[in-house]
Parts: sequence; C-alpha cells; structure tokens
Amino acid sequence: MKGCISRIVREIPEGTYHRALKAEAEVINGNINDLLWDLTICKYALQKVIDALWCLDKLPSKTQLHQLFYPLLRGYGLRAHVARNIYNIAFALVKSARENKESKPVIKKLFARLDYQDAKVDLDKSIIKVVLRYKWYTLKLKHRREYIERFRGLRWKEVHLTYREGKLYVSIIFEIKYRPYIPRGLLALDINLTHVVLYDSCSVRRIKTRFKDALSKRARAEELQKKYPKRWRYKERILNRIRELHKRASNIVVDSCWKIAKTIVLEAKKRGYAIVMEDLTGLRESIVKSKITVRWKLEMFAYRKLQQAVITKAIELNVPVFLVDPKDTSTVCPRCGSRLEYVYRLGYCRKCGFIADRDVIGAMNILFKALKADVPGRGSRVNAPPMNDETRGRRGTQG
Ligand SMILES: [Zn+2]
Repeated sequence: MKGCISRIVREIPEGTYHRALKAEAEVINGNINDLLWDLTICKYALQKVIDALWCLDKLPSKTQLHQLFYPLLRGYGLRAHVARNIYNIAFALVKSARENKESKPVIKKLFARLDYQDAKVDLDKSIIKVVLRYKWYTLKLKHRREYIERFRGLRWKEVHLTYREGKLYVSIIFEIKYRPYIPRGLLALDINLTHVVLYDSCSVRRIKTRFKDALSKRARAEELQKKYPKRWRYKERILNRIRELHKRASNIVVDSCWKIAKTIVLEAKKRGYAIVMEDLTGLRESIVKSKITVRWKLEMFAYRKLQQAVITKAIELNVPVFLVDPKDTSTVCPRCGSRLEYVYRLGYCRKCGFIADRDVIGAMNILFKALKADVPGRGSRVNAPPMNDETRGRRGTQG
C-alpha cells in the first residue's frame, strides 16, 4: 500500500478520550416551544457575554469572569451550571477569536451545554432529561438501537443541545480514561473483504465479516444509477431507493465492524494481549488520487471503520493497540524476508519454501513488524532498536 506514513510502529497513547453519541431527539414530556424559548435565552445570554468580553481590552481572570457575569446570567433564570457553562464558552470563543485575529464571534444556532446537574441520561430507554431554566424536559433519542448500545456502560460528562433547520439534536459526550495495561503477548489483525484474520504467533483464527453483503447493496444502487442515467437524480422514488441502499450498506458495515471489534478486543483483554494492526493513516490521500472502483472504495471504508471500532473499543477496555507501517505486509516472506510470488491468494517463497494464504501472511508480517520494533509482549526481544520518541519509557519493562 503506497502513500502511507513510514512509521514503523505507532502506539495509541494513554490519556483521556472523548466519544460522542449524536442523535436527533424529540420532546416527549414538556413543550418543545418552551424548550426552544429556553434555548433562545441561552443563545441571547451567550452573545451578550461575548459582546461584553469583546469590548474589554484585557480578558478577565476566572474569578472576575464569574463575578461579572454570574449574577447577570442567573437573572435570566438560567440554572447555576448552565450560567457557568455559558460564560466559559463565551470566554473560550473570544479568546480563540482574538488569538487567531478573527472578528467577533456571532452565535447563530440555538445551543446549550449541560452537565450532570442539569441532565439525566438513561440509555436503556434512549431517554434524556434536561433543564436549562425552570422546567425539565424529557427527550427521546431517535436513533438505531444498535448505535446507542455502543455507549452503554460508559460515563457521560456533558450533554449538548442544538436546534437547527427545524430539528433538535443531542450530543452526549462520554469521557474515557485510557490506561493500557502492559501486554503479555500480541494479537495481529489483518482485514480483508470476507474475513478478519487473527494471528497470535501460534495459531490463526478467522472471523467472517458482512462486508460482501454491504457490497451487493452498493452494487444494486449503482445498477439503478446506470439504469436511469439521467433521471435518478431528479426522480424522487429512484433517489430514495438509492439512498436507502447506500444507507443499509453502511449500516451493515458499521454494525458488523462493532460486533467484530468487540469480539477481538474482549479476546485480547481476556488474554492480556495487545492488538497490532496496519496503520491506515495517510491511506485516504493516496486513494483519492488514484482511480478506484466502487469495490475498493467500500473496502477502504470498511477497513477504516473496523480499525476505528477496534481502537475505540480498546480504549474503552484499556487494551493496548499498536499500529504498524502497512508497507509490504503481504508481499514479503514472513520467514526469510524475500519477495513472495502469488498464485491467486496463495503466496509462496522460492527461497525457503514457505507457503500460506495471503491473509495469514499479512497477519504474520504485521505481528513480526511489531516484534521487530520491540513492542512489549512475550518473547518480543527479537532485536532491540534504539529508544526514540515512539518508544515510551513504560515500554522498557516487560510485564
Ligand atoms: Zn521465505
């Protein structure tokens, strides 16, 4: 795979990560117009604080900020934490606009940021409750159950409410503290259209994907476009059908990716292993440049989604993840390093007689790349490279 950043191994760093659940919502208890009025007051208040800060030569300190605006905002009937969020947002907006020499920020959409005091989240029922001023509103998230399920068990930090183009949207921000453990071994992953191949330096395991299902949906959409080369864009019925097929295709990919990611990450966690994958950063750029088929486009989409899902799930469960440079992973003999020859999907080495399936070769080479770079894991000291920025001190000790 050309065009990739030639880093040997990249580690997903420990730290705090955020994940957002984004969904359209409807008010099921309370009046939407009252909620919109509360949001309008928030917007007005936010703009007012921005205007006031903009006039000052020097931005106030945190205490001054509170003294200046808290009573004013409370006067609008805003809840304590809502008021505090508003002056903090205004402060951040003005500060960044000044630093970047931009003009005064103007708030266009209705928006509010709420924290634990002013929101209650119940993912089991897909319901959240919010309060901005005096009234509580109950909102129902309008999203697929499969999507909401992915956030179960996480700790949420903030709820954002936005109203635009006649629709109410909710973002629930979850905060995850990622502290990866020191791995006992490595689990390499090679992704292809039909399977994900897992290799743990002893055995190979395959997990079936549903990417081909998705591909056939996409192909049907393409056929429709070809069948009605001019009309499909304007005829609503055809357009809806095409949209529906594309949507279903991407839902299949995404749901399948999450399911597979969960299986893989749980397995790694159970065994105390780290996950090793190809680093796909930079791949998109090279793909955009080259002429590509629909199939390849979907494949790329699927690979990225799966990789994303694995990383996200790993962060949630503190499983370490290493990404290796994807260069030559399927073309070089894992045993002796010479170039392989292929007959369909079967690769063989003229020099040492090694013979294996393409995916297995991929997974093996991915694992060996991590081993060579001295990623911790059982029996990993193949050859020790000098320490660099990528090699953290923590990695020096084996668990
Ligand atoms: Zn060989």
